[in-house]
Amino acid sequence: MKSNSKVKFETKCVHSGISEYEYGPVVPPIYQTSTFKFESAEHGASLFAGEKKGYIYTRMLNPTIQAMEDAIAELEGGYKALGCGSGMAAVHTVFASLTQSGDHVVCSTAVYGPTTTLLNTIMKKYGVETTFVDTSNLSEVKRAIKPNTKVIYVETPGNPTLSISNLEEISKLAKQQNAKLVVDNTFMSPALQNPMAFGADIVLHSLTKFLNGHADVVGGIVVVKDEETYQHFRKTLNQLGGVIDPFNSFLVHRGIKTLSLRMQRHCENAQIIAEWLEKHPLVKSISFPGLKSHPQYELGLKQHKGAGGMITVELAGGLEAGRIMMNSVKLFQLAVSLGGVESLVQHPASMTHFSMGKEARLAGGITDGLVRISVGIENVNDLISDLESTLREVEKAKLR
Ligand SMILES: *Cc1c(COP(=O)(O)O)cnc(C)c1O
Repeated sequence: MKSNSKVKFETKCVHSGISEYEYGPVVPPIYQTSTFKFESAEHGASLFAGEKKGYIYTRMLNPTIQAMEDAIAELEGGYKALGCGSGMAAVHTVFASLTQSGDHVVCSTAVYGPTTTLLNTIMKKYGVETTFVDTSNLSEVKRAIKPNTKVIYVETPGNPTLSISNLEEISKLAKQQNAKLVVDNTFMSPALQNPMAFGADIVLHSLTKFLNGHADVVGGIVVVKDEETYQHFRKTLNQLGGVIDPFNSFLVHRGIKTLSLRMQRHCENAQIIAEWLEKHPLVKSISFPGLKSHPQYELGLKQHKGAGGMITVELAGGLEAGRIMMNSVKLFQLAVSLGGVESLVQHPASMTHFSMGKEARLAGGITDGLVRISVGIENVNDLISDLESTLREVEKAKLR
């Protein structure tokens, strides 16, 4: 189910994961079935024994899910992928596959809130200990590694501060330790960054975000580099049960066809908006990988092909200013999540990163006044007009 690997990324977005199906459809049919008939008792037995290839039961494998998995594996430059019911199911599958009681994990402080919570609660309960460090600082990563470190887990740009970590250098540290480097690539998508090209062992995504891109699916995916890892992860996922379903896989596969186009527009719009916000008197600080003021701007240029669609700003007037902003946007919608065609704003301290607790938030640079913006693909002048009138409301409150 692989398209020609020599073609360019835009072409792969359209053609990856598509193979031949009965009646010759140009897109994979939705095999909305829980189970598959065997030709005979012998055939069924040979499928279970792994002697013959074929489908048995949708939790184990399904052609529509597999088509989407193959497409993303190819876009990431990986070997195979595993579709999961959500991004968090993907994160759980990775930790359940790679760690056991007594193991240690090094994780970025700036990661998706529930990932921190998973490590601090469920993984901890099963005897896996985690050290959280600022992975954009290599010496902190080095210092955190212990003899029992099995996983180094990085998000770059990190959520929501957008700090950038040096994947190539961290992958060297991981290799020395015989640990796996796992990268959550949700914020960049394979259109902008391929962590495996910089030495990552495992890449995961929340499909809910840029890959699907239309805010109508919850899903996740894990991309691996070799058959042995694939088989091991597939067994774990089959036991955990957190698989994606055929219909959502179909929607994600459809979304991927426009990934390249969408990411281009997300990047263009976000760059213009970030430059506009940076000059605005009410903006106290801003983080966007495409601004020269970003502390790892140069590293970003080497690591990703575009700065993405995510911006975080801290307004002068802190929490109250952020509150006014979120209550007065009209075109931007006040909602968590990101990476869809529509622009969204949200407040990490009271929303996505609330469950972490204030102490962990501040360690990750998530102050109370931080607002996270997911820039969509609308006309950029319309978006700026909305922000302009929103910030006028903030100005009226005279919080400074
Ligand atoms: C949303 C998100 C997740 C979790 O994905 P769900 O699909 O919501 O479970 C994980 N990592 C990042 C960076 C995310 O943005």
